[in-house]
Amino acid sequence: MRLVILGAPGAGKGTQAEKISDRLGIPHVSTGDILRSEIKKGSKYGLEAKEYVESGRLVPDRLVMDIMEDFILSDAAEKGFLLDGFPRNMAQAEDFHKMLEKTGMVLDRVINIRVDHEEIIRRLGRRRICSSCRNISIDETKTEEICSSCGGRLERRSDDREEVVRKRLEVYDRETLPLVEYYRDRGILVEVDGSGTPEEVTERIMKRL
Ligand code: AMP
Repeated sequence: MRLVILGAPGAGKGTQAEKISDRLGIPHVSTGDILRSEIKKGSKYGLEAKEYVESGRLVPDRLVMDIMEDFILSDAAEKGFLLDGFPRNMAQAEDFHKMLEKTGMVLDRVINIRVDHEEIIRRLGRRRICSSCRNISIDETKTEEICSSCGGRLERRSDDREEVVRKRLEVYDRETLPLVEYYRDRGILVEVDGSGTPEEVTERIMKRL
């Protein structure tokens, strides 16, 4: 199965992508994770992406299209995939469509997770990521320092500061939201309410695939 997951930052895309790709046995590709890892390594891609990611803007399309093309042409993409964070604007969606046509692949479904902006600002203010197992938790007390799964140190993403979150939401509304209509018109959109526990959201999605 070939899937894309859409949703505002903090809607739970990464968490759901992890669970669904596990259940379906397909690779999960997150352009945000790839870019953060390139930034950490200080690679050529990372150096170019850093200031965009840290200020909540989209990195140039050319850079993300190169990353995606490498993946689509790799053996890993053959048994299907779940893309998280890509495409992020109309130009990427159209280029992606052409890329798939060239390889004879068809996108089966696009999942859109809906959560309102105020809930997102609340969630991201409390989001913590384990530096060791990458587990994501929502720290309601804002005092936790240790991961409850593995004992690793909890970190905040540098772009989860409120002013950057507001910028990311603005970019999402302007650049990414039009993709919901684009995929609805193509008849492959699945819309899901993102409220409740991660397990409840996963079940809602699985029922609709
Ligand atoms: P995410 O982890 O999906 O929230 O992405 C974090 C950041 O990475 C975004 O705010 C962008 O700066 C960058 N990014 C991720 N995916 C893309 C993409 N498809 N196009 C442009 N920038 C992206």
